[in-house]
Amino acid sequence: MTILSHPLFLEHDTGSGHPECADRLKAVLAALDAAGLPWVESAGPATDAELLRAHTPAHVAHVRGLIGASGQAGDETPIGPRSIEAALWAAGATVEAVDRAQAGDPEVWALVRPPGHHATRTRSMGFCVLNNVAVAALHGLHGLHGRERAAAGVAVLDWDVHHGNGTQDIFWDRADACLVSLHQDPLYPHSGAVEERGAHGNIVNIPLLCGTDDDGYLQALEDRALPALDRFGPALLLISAGFDALQHDPLAGMWMTAGGFGKMAARVRSWARARGVPVVFVLEGGYRVDALGDCVVACVRGGDPMVSNGLDG
Ligand SMILES: [Zn+2]
Repeated sequence: MTILSHPLFLEHDTGSGHPECADRLKAVLAALDAAGLPWVESAGPATDAELLRAHTPAHVAHVRGLIGASGQAGDETPIGPRSIEAALWAAGATVEAVDRAQAGDPEVWALVRPPGHHATRTRSMGFCVLNNVAVAALHGLHGLHGRERAAAGVAVLDWDVHHGNGTQDIFWDRADACLVSLHQDPLYPHSGAVEERGAHGNIVNIPLLCGTDDDGYLQALEDRALPALDRFGPALLLISAGFDALQHDPLAGMWMTAGGFGKMAARVRSWARARGVPVVFVLEGGYRVDALGDCVVACVRGGDPMVSNGLDG
């Protein structure tokens, strides 16, 4: 297992009092340090060739044109002078995580800011400048070409409390990319109905009622999300790992615990290992700075003694 992050992600300044703040990632990295779980710095930004697999040339040009600027990159997407650089590196770290997974690492984490899953093919929105997970998934698909599993696709399991509308938009007409999204409904961005299935039945939306707890999430994972992933049979699995379904999150109304996230990660890990599918976890939302670190540590440990023994030293 490898955990990637970078100090540049702390330089993304969303302004005073904004919930998507640098303290979120600071808390996660401090919790990893306290738990004896090492992380390494990611190597660089995403390239245009990588970004253009998920975004239009106009959107990539728009984002690059904002380098050094402050203001808004899109609806509800505040940026400061180093935010675009951070966004390019966030996508780059997620691409690197896929490279490492495809080189044989069974599990890689990309702990990044800004988050990505609301960014569509054509625009930034909802705190998301570039769609890190979609850029990396389509990069992974590119990497599969010419290999023995060329026929297999990539899947994203999105358990952020908000619907992964951007990933859905980017994957919509691709038979080789599957999105399974668990999300609170109704809630921002007010998409993600069961009827939204993609051009090839490759989108599986699982809306959940406000107040869903650990048991409800684990049941939805077992009964609906994992069977959907089995039907698709991906060669690579990425997780849009948001932690805003945690109880008392200021932006949502779910009732999960850190331990519940750990169980969910452990179940996904056992599913993937049984099928020889590498997993890349990508940080999305989660706005309880006091508890975000516990959630990530619970997922990294995930009840898997092999992981704990390997990293605890
Ligand atoms: Zn969210």
